[in-house]
Amino acid sequence: MSDPTPNRNPEIKYKQLFINNEWVDAQSGRTFPTLNPCTGEVICEIQEADKADVDVAVAAARSAFKIGSAWRTMDASKRAALITKFADLLERDKEYIASLETLDNGKPFLDSVDDIGATIDCFRYFAGWCDKITGQTIPVDGSYFTFTRREPVGVCGQIIPWNYPLAMVSWKWAPALACGCTIVLKPAEQTPITALYAGALIKEAGFPPGVVNIVPGFGPTAGAAIAEHMDVDKVAFTGSTEVGHLIMQAAGRSNLKRVSLELGGKSPLIILADADVEDAAMWAHAAIMTNHGQNCCAGSRTFVQEGIYDKFVEVSKTLAENRMVGDPYDVMTQQGPQVDEAQFKKILDMIKSGKDEGAKLQYGGERWGDKGYFIKPTVFSDVTDNMRIAREEIFGPVQSIIKFRDVEEVLERANATKYGLAAGVITNDINKALMLSQKLQAGSVWVNCYDIVTSQTPFGGYKMSGQGRELGEEALKQYTETKTVTIKIPQKNS
Ligand code: NAP
Ligand code: MG
Repeated sequence: MSDPTPNRNPEIKYKQLFINNEWVDAQSGRTFPTLNPCTGEVICEIQEADKADVDVAVAAARSAFKIGSAWRTMDASKRAALITKFADLLERDKEYIASLETLDNGKPFLDSVDDIGATIDCFRYFAGWCDKITGQTIPVDGSYFTFTRREPVGVCGQIIPWNYPLAMVSWKWAPALACGCTIVLKPAEQTPITALYAGALIKEAGFPPGVVNIVPGFGPTAGAAIAEHMDVDKVAFTGSTEVGHLIMQAAGRSNLKRVSLELGGKSPLIILADADVEDAAMWAHAAIMTNHGQNCCAGSRTFVQEGIYDKFVEVSKTLAENRMVGDPYDVMTQQGPQVDEAQFKKILDMIKSGKDEGAKLQYGGERWGDKGYFIKPTVFSDVTDNMRIAREEIFGPVQSIIKFRDVEEVLERANATKYGLAAGVITNDINKALMLSQKLQAGSVWVNCYDIVTSQTPFGGYKMSGQGRELGEEALKQYTETKTVTIKIPQKNS
């Protein structure tokens, strides 16, 4: 296969709301701009959904979910075929979609290609589940035959962030569709374009109207309307812990809809002194720098044991110096711009706090270039646990290298956070690897690797990093209700 080729000027075909398999304008007539983070310039105007449009989208999703509808009566194997067809269409348009993703989000084109590949995998993986979502027969006391059914939870509101725009669509849509739910999705205001294109492919694949609806717009309006809606059965959210609180509150205030949350993190990556320093530094660099640090499970606290600390800092600095920052359409580029001005400013503010609080800046620490939202890969050493850069999610290319003495101590320090999304350990000592992976409070623990997320494996957080798990078989729990059916068995033939 030839190398994927970027298109710097991909045509933006879909800028409206997608409801009932139709493209419609927002009822208010309002639009909002989506920007190119390389330049800050407007790519195009997108129709802006708010509560009134969410109501229409939810009604469409409810109608598609009615008992007896085309979707509810569809054989599970046919549902699998539709999801597979949709994945095939994504594959057909992979280069175009990756070009759109890079334009809207700023991530390097080859990273976008990888994201679309993971997106396709995710749909194919969940297509396989459609006709394998089974209940149990249960040997109850008494003369009864009891079995359980796993039924779709219903109309699902889904609110997603901008860091992996299309991949987040797949984490939300794929299990929901496999379980037979219907969907109202709000993409992030910064990155609506690829989700809207996916809507066009939903229609082309042949999904019945109303199964998938897309309402681009803002969190406090369209997002809040979904979270508070009395006719939405479940809301799935990925984003900040702060908004996660609001989503749960809205569910509590309204109809107690089911809630799943995938939130922030401040994940520790622990490097023991027996590790190969070059190899460990390479993993640690990738753990924080991947996707410009805009990654919920970023290894944002690099704990390094004292024997190798100085050498590790030296290698990390060199890796940051050599990271290729620039035009995301250049296939050599490893890091493009941050997603928007707000994130750019927040990251520079966190860097300033690191300097002010006495961390030692080894490299970077400032903007790259003179336009757009680029930030130099940044490495701090001599970071201590109380500094903001060691406590708060930065969501940028900023590595905080922290020294530790022994394993018990680092375990306690690693767990001393409100978050619990991920953790990593790099060591050649199997006993320490086992002990740490058992005792770290995190939804994913990677040993001698980092950020290995696959469609087959559950992903989610302990503590304030979330509720529930996405991906893998566990994701099916988020999109099904269990029904117990009990039937009396007569003991005599009469
Ligand atoms: P965010 O506000 O949590 O945004 C995530 C999604 O929630 C977006 O679609 C957003 O809409 C929507 N939203 C915002 N307020 C809402 C509300 N009141 N009700 C319902 N939905 C609402 O995140 P952000 O402002 O983009 O980023 C802030 C920080 O969050 C980052 O710096 C990072 O620390 C964290 N974050 C984490 C993840 C993750 O993967 N866990 C992803 C992104 C960001 P809008 O598009 O209008 O904002
Ligand atoms: Mg944009």
